[in-house]
Amino acid sequence: MSQIMPDETILLNLPKGGDPPWALLYPNTYGVGMANLGYHYIYAALKSRGVGVERIFVDTECKSLEEGRFLSEFPIVTASVSYEPDYVALLKMLHNSKVLLHWHRRALINGPVVGVGGAVSYINPLLFSSMVDFVCLGDGEVVVDHLIACLRSYMKHGNRRKLWEDLSASKHVYVPPLHNELVISKKANLGRKRGNLENLSASLGHSVWMTPKAAFGRTLLLELQRGCFRRCPYCVVPSNFGKARFRPVDELISLLYKFKTYNNFNVGLVTPEAGDHPDLDRLLDAINDCGRRVSFASLRIDALSEKMLKTMAIGGKKSITIAPETGSDSLRGSLKKHFTNETIIKKLAIAKDFGIRSVKMYFMIGLPGENDDDVRSIAELSKQVWELLKLKPVISISIFVPKPGTPFSNEPFVGISEGRRKLNILRGSLKGYGKVIKMRSVDLRGSLKEYTLSWYGLQEAEVLLDMIDDGDKDDLSCLAFSKEVVREQIFMLGF
Ligand code: SF4
Repeated sequence: MSQIMPDETILLNLPKGGDPPWALLYPNTYGVGMANLGYHYIYAALKSRGVGVERIFVDTECKSLEEGRFLSEFPIVTASVSYEPDYVALLKMLHNSKVLLHWHRRALINGPVVGVGGAVSYINPLLFSSMVDFVCLGDGEVVVDHLIACLRSYMKHGNRRKLWEDLSASKHVYVPPLHNELVISKKANLGRKRGNLENLSASLGHSVWMTPKAAFGRTLLLELQRGCFRRCPYCVVPSNFGKARFRPVDELISLLYKFKTYNNFNVGLVTPEAGDHPDLDRLLDAINDCGRRVSFASLRIDALSEKMLKTMAIGGKKSITIAPETGSDSLRGSLKKHFTNETIIKKLAIAKDFGIRSVKMYFMIGLPGENDDDVRSIAELSKQVWELLKLKPVISISIFVPKPGTPFSNEPFVGISEGRRKLNILRGSLKGYGKVIKMRSVDLRGSLKEYTLSWYGLQEAEVLLDMIDDGDKDDLSCLAFSKEVVREQIFMLGF
């Protein structure tokens, strides 16, 4: 652990020690967890309220960073699960630490209380139904005080049932030990709701730590926006993360100036769509004024302004990341992304004038209504970018995964053999361009895992835990499920 901590710069003055001892897990690597602002937030929220919170990642050998304590020593364990396959990693972390996976088995031996939050719990909290004592629904800031009060009280009385009842008093908490049977019996809609923080100024707004070991390097993360007002039918943000809320630009600028004197950091803008912030230009001016390099996760090409490009140029950026999604204008239109290949080429030509030399482009295959020509169109667009502009494309290909709650939720997942066939069509269309166009494709099995896990209901979640308990490590996430049943169960929860 000692090789990690000295590289961290902490940006908040947080109390030392604290009570109760609380393990905060991120079921992925330290680098990925340190790039997740939600994980920073929940650590800061707990620590500033005097909780003895310590961080554990998959690569810290199930020991906490702060004190080197084993995961199994903590009476309270919570995890941020941002991506469905991370849930399997979480189960393995607990299993390897000899923490019983099922909530009812832990309750019998007075084992640790386990809870989760994070992006997956917004989309399908039923995935956690057999494992956790509680699921935080929605933004953590809304329920953190309630959780701490319930758990501090539990540390005194030790009555598990009372803890569950106390936790369930907030409609933003799903308590599987109390709620599962009611969901199955369909007696009543449980009225559980995601808590969406309306006023972003009530949240921290920036990273707790900066470290070169984070996935984006030593970066000050600033949160601009939650939710989205657009309606791309494949996207989970509008349906699961609430309406668009923006952090006021004056607040963002003052955060930036507060940390201006720290050495060697870039600014990372955390937002579903950077170009949608109403005062982005003023923020970019301030970033330029501070002499910082800015990074945007990926840019919506129609919202890409000269000011954004200029800011990237001043920071010395030579590459840009955009998300055309597909090479076909009509298929893109069906995704409610109404910009054409012509617009993409025009905008990239301007980017080139600002010194950009390479472009990373995100595409999806397996989209509803897609034909083989649409797949080939990805190659055609990529070739145009090289031939017309001499910008070197790196194309990143993922597979469309239909998620609960989205307008495309009923669409099929393309499957491994069809996905492989489409990838081969694309590779064939790029023949002869291997030296200038780099193609990176997602692992098809990983996408299948993401798809199945995102649709697990109560029954499948239970079987998954049994498989891990039985030591079956081969195929932990390909159970059959019914979208109909899962949708009904989510409805019974109250969503
Ligand atoms: S893809 Fe981007 S613009 Fe579209 S709904 Fe999602 S977050 Fe909004």
